[in-house]
Amino acid sequence: MSGRLNGKVALITGGGTGLGADFARRFVEEGAKVVITGRRRELLEKVAESLPAGTVFVFQGDVSSFEQAKAMVDAALMFGGKLDVLVNNAGIDPAGTVVEIPIEQWQKIIDINLTGPFLMMKAAIPHMIKNGGGSIINIASLAAVRNIPAMPAYSASKAGLIGLTQATALDYGPYNIRANVVCPGPVRTEMLEHSMAGLAQSLNTDIGGALNTLTRFVPLRRPATPDEISGIVVFLASDESSFMTGTTSMLDGGASIVDPCGAAVSSAGMNWGGGK
Ligand code: NAD
Repeated sequence: MSGRLNGKVALITGGGTGLGADFARRFVEEGAKVVITGRRRELLEKVAESLPAGTVFVFQGDVSSFEQAKAMVDAALMFGGKLDVLVNNAGIDPAGTVVEIPIEQWQKIIDINLTGPFLMMKAAIPHMIKNGGGSIINIASLAAVRNIPAMPAYSASKAGLIGLTQATALDYGPYNIRANVVCPGPVRTEMLEHSMAGLAQSLNTDIGGALNTLTRFVPLRRPATPDEISGIVVFLASDESSFMTGTTSMLDGGASIVDPCGAAVSSAGMNWGGGK
C-alpha cells in the first residue's frame, strides 16, 4: 500500500538509526515529507541519502533541550510548511539497580526518555492547534508494564511516557490532536544488539543464540524486525486511525500475556498440575 500519508509532514526523533530510520523510510514510501532529528549528523545524513531527494530533511539536535526541541519543530515548519505528525522515538537504556545507578545517569535517562517527549510536544502542540490537529506517537516499551532486572530508570521513564501520552490525549483531544503510545518488545536494532552482547558472551554464543534465549518464553519465539513496528506507527500517523487516541499498543510477540510462573514450570519440561 502507498499514499496513506500523502501531504503529511512528520518529525521523527532519533531518526538516524534503528526504529526511527525505519519509520522515516516507511513514512516517505507512504507519501510524507519527513524531518529526522538526532544527535549524530552523519547517521541522519546516511538515512536521508538512502531516500528520494527532497523527501527528508536532517536536523541535528538533542531532545532534552527545549531550545533544540523548538528548533526541530521550526525546521519541520520551514521544510514542510506545517507539522502533522510527531514521533517521539529517541531513547536510551542504560542499566543499574536503584542503589547502583549514579544519580546523573538516572537523570539523563529521564531527561531523554520522558522529559524529551514532553519538550517536543510542548514545542509542537501550539503549531498543531493552529494547523487544525495532529497525531503524536510516543515510543515506550514492554518495559513500561513488565520489568527487566536492573532497569528502574528505563522502566520508570517508559511507564511515565504512557501517563504523559494519556494526559496529552485528554487535554488536546478537543483540538483534534491525537496521542498514542506504542510499546515494542525486543526489536532487532543497535540498541538490542548492544544490550545482548554481554549475554551472548556469557552463553558462549552469537547474537542470534542470545536472542533465542531472550525470547524462549515469548509466544512468537523471536524478536521483531523494525518494519514490524513501523506498520502501526504509519497507521497511527494516518487518518485511518482518526478516532484513536490515548491508546497503548503492545507489539511484543505476546510477551506481556505470559505468566512467569507458568514459563518456569514449562521450562522444567512440565505442564501446570504436574503432567508432562
Ligand atoms: P537506537 O539506539 O537505534 O535508537 C535510538 C535513537 O535515539 C538513536 O538514534 C540515538 O542517537 C537517539 N537519541 C538518543 N538520545 C538522544 C537525544 N538526547 N536527542 C536526540 N536523539 C537521541 O534504538 P532503537 O531500538 O531504534 O530505539 C528506538 C526507541 O524504541 C527507543 O525509545 C527505545 O527505548 C524504544 N524501544 C526499543 C526496543 C528494542 O528492542 N530495540 C524495545 C522497546 C522500545
